[in-house]
Amino acid sequence: MSPYEASGIPAQMYAVYSGFALVFGLLVGSFLNVCIARMPEDRSVVHPPSHCPSCGHGIRPTDNIPVLSWLLLRGKCRDCGATISSLYPTIELLTGVVAWLLFRRILPEPSHLDLAHGAAFVFTFSIAAMMIAQSFIDLKHYIIPDEFSIYAVPYAVAAAFGLTWLGYPEALSWRESVLGAFFGGGVLLSIAMFWKLVRRIDSMGMGDVKLLALIGAVLGPWPALPFVMFGSVFLALFIALPIGFLKTRRLNFALPFGPFLGLASILWMLHGTELADLYYPGWREVSQVFFGM
Ligand SMILES: [Zn+2]
Repeated sequence: MSPYEASGIPAQMYAVYSGFALVFGLLVGSFLNVCIARMPEDRSVVHPPSHCPSCGHGIRPTDNIPVLSWLLLRGKCRDCGATISSLYPTIELLTGVVAWLLFRRILPEPSHLDLAHGAAFVFTFSIAAMMIAQSFIDLKHYIIPDEFSIYAVPYAVAAAFGLTWLGYPEALSWRESVLGAFFGGGVLLSIAMFWKLVRRIDSMGMGDVKLLALIGAVLGPWPALPFVMFGSVFLALFIALPIGFLKTRRLNFALPFGPFLGLASILWMLHGTELADLYYPGWREVSQVFFGM
């Protein structure tokens, strides 16, 4: 009997669970919209309940269904007809899809439906959701909230400890998590300080430093951290630089870096090991030599 048959969970139940992950992601995406709108202004994310920014009318629970409500209302407020940005359903859909993909990645088979894998999914998705929220906040306001970066480091270290204790096979040890936070924050901090000394400019915001500390704590120091750092620079060079240059005709424009760090980390969560094998097959030997793991 395969472990899947032994688990007694029929394949239909697995499909239902991955559907739950999608719906859960859509609902979290709806909450992220509130965070993105309110956190940069230091407003509470729970009170008051959502209302139309144009007319102030409260949004009815039936008009607050992720994606669907926006489509049914054709992107307009039911009370005053003001346009509702298509960014809202986009973020809901994006968060839902990321939740579904992470579920399929962390629990690829019905036999994985247990507490350890479930907890790993909830933790990884919570970090992915923070990455989505900070990306859109950084794009709009050029800040990364501490709640979604440095303040979440103890949560990541505790999760590494908890997931190891639960027996999740791909869990980081809490030591790796601490080391990741230290390297993530430390490496960027050194680069930023170097540029400040050499060229007397602030090349990077401290927000990026604090964000990379969290990414290191979640994904570990090796091989994830170098991948996320090079990957985000690569994405920025090939996506943002041409767009920014066409818009400003200059090469030294302000570039929010949070979205690229966020995107590279979510890519790592989904396909990390495969990407490392593809671009640097020698990474396992380096692990052996330097980390003994
Ligand atoms: Zn309105």
